[in-house]
Amino acid sequence: MKSILQNKREEQCFICKHYETAPTPPKIRYDLLGNPHRALEEHHIFEGINRKASEKYGLKVYLCKYHHTGDENGSSGAVHSNPNTGADLWLKRKGQYAWERRYAKHLHESEEANEEFREIFGKSYL
Ligand SMILES: [Zn+2]
Ligand SMILES: [Zn+2]
Repeated sequence: MKSILQNKREEQCFICKHYETAPTPPKIRYDLLGNPHRALEEHHIFEGINRKASEKYGLKVYLCKYHHTGDENGSSGAVHSNPNTGADLWLKRKGQYAWERRYAKHLHESEEANEEFREIFGKSYL
């Protein structure tokens, strides 16, 4: 997986690892087949019409099933069930920050850098 946020060998859910207020996934998600790595899924931080750009710039992370699409009980921690709020918004801000550091011509987090990001992804989250 090409990612500018996560090392290829970092086989861990990005939200579980870095988001302090993340809801804790039920243990069973980790114990699936006794192998925590199997439960990881690839997530494009900016989806829909921005999916291709996410691919191009490496705005992808590994997520556990619980934080990605949720389980059959409709987990409240899943980014796909709760777009643009909570963990999903946090992840988008992380993604934009990483993009600006890596690709923006202007200083990251400046108005100009936000604008550069907006020109590609349609919206600034910072
Ligand atoms: Zn997780
Ligand atoms: Zn996804």
